[in-house]
Amino acid sequence: MKFDLILLRYGELALKGKNKAAFEQKLIQNIRQQLIEFEAVRITKEQGRLFVELNGQEMEPVLEKLRDVFGLVGFSPALRVESKLESLQQAALQIVQHAPNKRTFKVISKRANKSFPIGSQELNHQIGGYVLKNAQPIQVDVHYPELFVHVEVRSKASYVYGNDIVGLGGLPVGSSGKVLLLLSGGIDSPVAGFLALKRGVELQAIHFHSFPFTSERAKQKVIDLAQILTRFGGSIRLHIVPFTEIQTEINKHCYESYSITIMRRIMLRIAEEIAKQNGALALVTGESLGQVASQTLESMNTINAVTNMPILRPVVGMDKQEIMSLAKQIGTYETSILPYEDCCTVFLPKAPKTKPDQETAERQEARLEMERLVREAVEGTEVMVLSAEQEDEFSYFE
Ligand code: ATP
Ligand code: MG
Repeated sequence: MKFDLILLRYGELALKGKNKAAFEQKLIQNIRQQLIEFEAVRITKEQGRLFVELNGQEMEPVLEKLRDVFGLVGFSPALRVESKLESLQQAALQIVQHAPNKRTFKVISKRANKSFPIGSQELNHQIGGYVLKNAQPIQVDVHYPELFVHVEVRSKASYVYGNDIVGLGGLPVGSSGKVLLLLSGGIDSPVAGFLALKRGVELQAIHFHSFPFTSERAKQKVIDLAQILTRFGGSIRLHIVPFTEIQTEINKHCYESYSITIMRRIMLRIAEEIAKQNGALALVTGESLGQVASQTLESMNTINAVTNMPILRPVVGMDKQEIMSLAKQIGTYETSILPYEDCCTVFLPKAPKTKPDQETAERQEARLEMERLVREAVEGTEVMVLSAEQEDEFSYFE
């Protein structure tokens, strides 16, 4: 008997009717994309279950890829066997032998095929007894076993598998519309992007770049961060907005204490425009509450006032520590902490206003050629398409 099968679990319980079909379809499509390099591998649906059929492909690299798929609650290497007692016993033994560090186990049988002659309680006993006799040294623990041996008896074939590998959960990317992530080079916004992906959105990203105040390396850092996110989200369109003139104009004409507020308001105006052009229905930021001057509620109000588009802030409920540990988990942290300056740090005022008001912001902005600045920034925006399977060297400019 060979482990040539991975059984997939997804949040099917919460889904009904039409939604379920669309969810499954998207999930299958995303898994296929994620496993595209493994030519022999197939995804199949059988008796209401989703499987990855390895067809000789090595298991481990496939499991690694499945860890990055949103919508998967869990998955386990499984054996498909004839619905016969001896076959089930041997398969269970094999599951135990493949988990050599486990000291205790418990068999959980489910009989979907009621015509199978042995009831599930009896089956637990028969299979458990066989394992105890043939595997060394392992004990039964019905309360807190280290290894669960799942046995599913179905009509065509039966499945036997061990502990679940925990997946990312969430919803399949692409199942809930498109959003535009404001991606800085910091720690928070890539995490915000990851969490948005978790809710099933398709992600595009926008970055404001102020060359030569900020270096080419600062830009490369953002490209790298977007590239890392493609691991979870397929391809990502990254819009890089020339922001130098706008920052220069703000510094020349506006109160220093309002420069961040006005800069943010202009970022949002541009982001809204790019979002509309690309069919994105919301913006996503890495903003939190109370971290810095521009993140007070007063400040958010004044900044938000320029757009009617919903702004999602997925990290608002998290502490900095939690954000950092998630950044490490998803692999963006090391890149985020590289020292290249972001446009916000370069122009940081000595005393930013913590409670900027809208009237003052508007009066300051009246000194700028707002319409022209926004239009030219949008027109000068450079687009890159980053895709997961191709890695950096194949990314292309449009
Ligand atoms: P981050 O760690 O994501 O940089 P932060 O805690 O440093 O966030 P701010 O610098 O106030 O907070 O930025 C708040 C949000 O504004 C960022 O999370 C990002 O979504 C957006 N943002 C800031 N600077 C840029 C930029 N240059 N390009 C695109 N988005 C930006
Ligand atoms: Mg920042």
